[in-house]
Amino acid sequence: MTALTAYHYQSTEFTPSGFGVTVPGPDVEEPIDASEVERLLNNGKPSLRLPEPLESAFLNDAGPQRLRTMLISGGLVSVIFNWLLVSDWLLVPDLFDLALRLRLFLFTPAIIVGVFLLPRVASPAAREWLLVIPGVGACAINAWLSMTSSDPYAAPYLVSLATIVMFTNSVVRMRFAPAAVLDACAMALFIGAAITMPASLAPILIPGTLLLACTIVFTLYGCYCQERDDRLNWLLHLRERLLLKDLEAANQELHEASRSDMLTEVANRRHFDEHLAEVWAQVQRDGGEVALMMIDVDHFKAYNDRYGHPMGDACLKAVAGALKRRLRGPGDLIARYGGEEFIAVLAGTSLQTVRGAAERIRRGIEGLNLLHATSSTHAVVTVSIGVATMNPAAPGASMTRLISAADEALYRAKEGGRNRVVALGMDE
Ligand code: GH3
Ligand code: MG
Ligand code: MG
Repeated sequence: MTALTAYHYQSTEFTPSGFGVTVPGPDVEEPIDASEVERLLNNGKPSLRLPEPLESAFLNDAGPQRLRTMLISGGLVSVIFNWLLVSDWLLVPDLFDLALRLRLFLFTPAIIVGVFLLPRVASPAAREWLLVIPGVGACAINAWLSMTSSDPYAAPYLVSLATIVMFTNSVVRMRFAPAAVLDACAMALFIGAAITMPASLAPILIPGTLLLACTIVFTLYGCYCQERDDRLNWLLHLRERLLLKDLEAANQELHEASRSDMLTEVANRRHFDEHLAEVWAQVQRDGGEVALMMIDVDHFKAYNDRYGHPMGDACLKAVAGALKRRLRGPGDLIARYGGEEFIAVLAGTSLQTVRGAAERIRRGIEGLNLLHATSSTHAVVTVSIGVATMNPAAPGASMTRLISAADEALYRAKEGGRNRVVALGMDE
């Protein structure tokens, strides 16, 4: 695996449950470092905060799933919290009217508004922290009712804060940090309400405090484990995808390498064969002609002998570069056919047009002015080009015949004195 794989993370990619809510949020555009992911997975110390940009990517990815949990919990709480009216009626009957108003006309509408507004909050982290507000609100209502009621059962009623803590930590599965803040507030409200009550209620309030403390510790530990595992699983999943991406890139490179010539970086013979077959089939369907150019460097053996093999290689690269620059039409392909011979496919081109293009190529190569002192015909590197076209739908037409025709044209160009273009149509 490469140490510095750049990976642009998209927030919509990771939806472990397949839940498709689109959450507004800043797209994480920073590249993700695969070696950093590896280091975090290997260091063995689970952390509830990842280094950037991993933290933002994690929050964005987990966002849709978390939002779904929040919305379902919001729906549940808007119903369940009103069931407490039964307790209000039984335990704090003197404040039942107030409880009814607080629950039905303040808390429940606030939760419904929150459920509508929450998906519009862009930051996943902000959404997590916003959950503290209804949690504290619910605890405050119960603590207030318990504190202000003169009913003897008001003290046990205070223990209902444990239920709220259980709900937020186990059902809403709040992130550890906001859950810890909410639980601290719940405990503070409990103690704040308890100390206003007569000392005679201590046998109820002390076990109540312990019950709330235990509920907080146990469920908060659950929140910690849940968040740690979420992050760990996300990192494992991310590593898998980074490896897959590396593998895809390596495959792509291999694929490219298997289709191109290493020295000249034009297509190789295999790519040429595939491409010609494709173009042939397409022209056969759509009508028209397939054109081939066979391009051979003149007196190249003499060039090698005079300047050496490395200079010969550089010359082939220069020729290939010039060919590539001039053959850039859609469907055109230039390939190294072997040695100092190149071949070009042009789709839907008439003999006249392709002859003109070949002539421009010949002049272009000559214009490179690559000194060739031992050429018996010219002082610079030149090429001879054989051109042939064929209508694939014509009787007797075949790719082999087209290649032979281009080869024959090249032979005639050589025979005719080199540095020239000879074109052969189907009937020639
Ligand atoms: P003609 O004008 O008739 O084409 O003559 P020529 O000398 O170009 O043709 P010939 O087929 O006799 O020689 C081709 C030479 O190309 C021989 C070979 O050493 C050289 N050659 C083939 N491949 C490479 C290569 O990859 N690098 C270099 N430097 N030379 C190569
Ligand atoms: Mg040659
Ligand atoms: Mg040759």
